[in-house]
Amino acid sequence: MRVVFLGPPGAGKGTQARRLADRYGIPQVATGDMLREAMASGSELGQRARAYVERGELVPDDVMLAVVEDRLRRPDAERGFVLDGFPRTLAQAEGLDDLLRRLGRRLDAVVLFQVPEETVVRRLAGRWTCTACGRVFHESYSPPRTPGVCDACGSPLVQREDDRPETVRRRLAVYAEQTAPVVEYYRARGLLHPVDGSQDPDAVAEAVEAVLRHRVEVR
Ligand code: AMP
Repeated sequence: MRVVFLGPPGAGKGTQARRLADRYGIPQVATGDMLREAMASGSELGQRARAYVERGELVPDDVMLAVVEDRLRRPDAERGFVLDGFPRTLAQAEGLDDLLRRLGRRLDAVVLFQVPEETVVRRLAGRWTCTACGRVFHESYSPPRTPGVCDACGSPLVQREDDRPETVRRRLAVYAEQTAPVVEYYRARGLLHPVDGSQDPDAVAEAVEAVLRHRVEVR
């Protein structure tokens, strides 16, 4: 199963990617999580990425392509992967095609999570993320059992710096300018499968499953 999850910030890609990855035993390749880890560790990648991430801008394509190539070459990605937050530009989509060609693999499907902008803004404003395992909660829609503490691993939850309203607006503009063309790129290749991401997480997961079942059957 080789899948790309596309959609604006707050569309539910991370939540659904984690579920799918657990269910199929494949890695969730979340480029935003990888960059935040790199920033926390102070690595060279983290130092390069910080200024972009903090402003809600995209990290340059060559950096991201190198990160993803490195990740997809690891043995655990041989059975498949779910790409969450990548590709975000046309150059990244083309670079991914080229990488998969070199690896002798191809994508099964691209799932587009469609969510109205007001919903995205509301979701991001109440979002709390686990500092250790990356699980995501929402203070109204899916609150943790104890406020500020991760249900899964007991670590502290934080609000992402880039979930502040000014940065969210910039991220949405960047999505419209740079990532929307990626939607058309995959539509033109017959790989795009839109799902209604505004439903509750179980209903969205079912819609994703239905898409993927169908894709695997037609192959
Ligand atoms: P996310 O967690 O997916 O919302 O990503 C958080 C931030 O990381 C984004 O706003 C970008 O600054 C950066 N980022 C994540 N994935 C990419 C990517 N594929 N290309 C460029 N920048 C990215």
